[in-house]
Amino acid sequence: MSAAKKAVVTAATGAAALAIGAFIPAPDDPSLSGYQRRCANALSVFVSQIPRIDRGQYSVSYGEAFRPQSVAAAYARQGVGIANSLHTQRLAIDLNLFIDGEFQTSSEAHRPLADLWLAMGKQLGVEPAAGYYFNDGNHYSCAWGNRK
Ligand SMILES: [Zn+2]
Repeated sequence: MSAAKKAVVTAATGAAALAIGAFIPAPDDPSLSGYQRRCANALSVFVSQIPRIDRGQYSVSYGEAFRPQSVAAAYARQGVGIANSLHTQRLAIDLNLFIDGEFQTSSEAHRPLADLWLAMGKQLGVEPAAGYYFNDGNHYSCAWGNRK
């Protein structure tokens, strides 16, 4: 490899490392607060990568993120959620998925996102969970206390 080409490769590698470095989570914090911050960071990085799936066909808008305990209890009574949802601990987000601009109503459509999140989350300091794999297709979370 020529010196010039090597310099370009080194610069590109450095830029990539810098970009990834900007997202490296804070040192381990055993508290929920630290985990919540790592989770928010990891989900942000994940969402930023969604347009890369299948050359830009996928896009999302934000659905529910934080859910007050009173709302989670109401959802549980209605049978559309659980009372101790990770949404109440700011560790989950529901994403509205669009493919080629068209809103997707099926859980199946979320599979590429689920697999991306499961692949990325650990590198970003959280235990990723994707609702696609447990009948809650648009739900992306950071597992905590045996919940996902
Ligand atoms: Zn959810």
